[in-house]
Amino acid sequence: MKILVLNSGSSSIKFRLFAVDEAADHWQPAAQGAATRIGESGASLRLSWQGDGGEPQTRDDPGEIPSHHAGIERIAQVLQETGSLAGVGELRAVGHRVVHGGEAFHAPTLVDDDVIAAIRQMIPLAPLHNPANLDGILVARELFPGVPQVAVFDTAFHQTMPRTAYRYAIPGYLYREHHVRRYGFHGTSHHYVAKEAAAMLGKPLSHCNLITLHLGNGASATAIRDGASIDTSMGMTPLEGLVMGSRCGDIDPAVHFYLHRHLGFDNDTLDDLLNRQSGLLGLCGVNDMREVHRLAETGDEDAELALGVACHRLKKYIGAYAAILGRVDALVFTGGIGENDAAVRECACAELAHLGVELDIDANAGVQGEAGWVSRRESRVAVLVVPTDEELEIARQTREAIA
Ligand code: ADP
Repeated sequence: MKILVLNSGSSSIKFRLFAVDEAADHWQPAAQGAATRIGESGASLRLSWQGDGGEPQTRDDPGEIPSHHAGIERIAQVLQETGSLAGVGELRAVGHRVVHGGEAFHAPTLVDDDVIAAIRQMIPLAPLHNPANLDGILVARELFPGVPQVAVFDTAFHQTMPRTAYRYAIPGYLYREHHVRRYGFHGTSHHYVAKEAAAMLGKPLSHCNLITLHLGNGASATAIRDGASIDTSMGMTPLEGLVMGSRCGDIDPAVHFYLHRHLGFDNDTLDDLLNRQSGLLGLCGVNDMREVHRLAETGDEDAELALGVACHRLKKYIGAYAAILGRVDALVFTGGIGENDAAVRECACAELAHLGVELDIDANAGVQGEAGWVSRRESRVAVLVVPTDEELEIARQTREAIA
């Protein structure tokens, strides 16, 4: 059985094809790649796959990709040309990443006309993402008739949050009539690493209390009680919470009025400022954490400050979530920074012994890009590094939805 996972963005489509051995619950990535610069000049389709002898192969086809329709058609074509897919008949299902499921979706969902209408209704909540996600679904439905399509929502895992965590302290009609509340994102990743962490702890996820920290270009923290999300740092949009590559995270909303009144910033300027010019980039001029470290090592004070602000915020969330959880079994680091950056992990966990968190400095320094246990043996709270795999989680949830 093969399952195709599509992550359809505004100008790119990332994909991964899995061969699933159901009996052994074994998921083999058969091919993966991306169609990039869709509708722009310099478009290309990259693919890597397992050759006949199991050796990795790659191919990069430049050439115009005028639309998502053309992109997915070419993906299907190259998957067949390279032998990764015998034919569309071999596809058991297609799993789609959908950013915003609002309050309507708590779980992966088999796509039908009603689901499409609901995802369309959610566009005002995620105007940059949902239209492109929806495009992917519509095109895949047309190109692969009869193949079940499953939508997997970034927000779904956080639908277990209690009202006390998801409501903003603003007049109630804004929630009831205009859907203004916290939804949370990165749910597929938080859920995946939580399951992996539970396996490392040797307990069922439903018995685990965890603080999961997804630290990539976008970053979010989640408090998980008995396997379910009870709070998360991103809000109505992915702007709230931790310091990110170019997003500010938590900020006093009155800053907006001040910038509007005193500098004449309009909505678009503020949107660009807070989503694309802030975070690490705003503080020190670069948004890539490796670059921030490189600058800090040369004594650049802005880069040192950026690291300090990001780690301070991270630690504050760990403390807040420890307070609402009561018992914490593990802190779980994931995402490009969480998986690779021992210095950020060390800084976030420093002086947290009063909360039961004791990092093993040497073990921590030795873990990069792989799963690892980085707390001291006597630490009451385990500190774990778990590489995330959102595509695999989407594929697994897709299989669950069609089962
Ligand atoms: P995205 O949110 O785009 O999926 P990733 O999860 O790939 O992002 O994370 C990107 C971030 O991870 C960047 O800030 C990058 O600098 C950081 N990163 C990747 N590798 C390392 C590393 N070895 N050390 C420190 N940071 C790293």
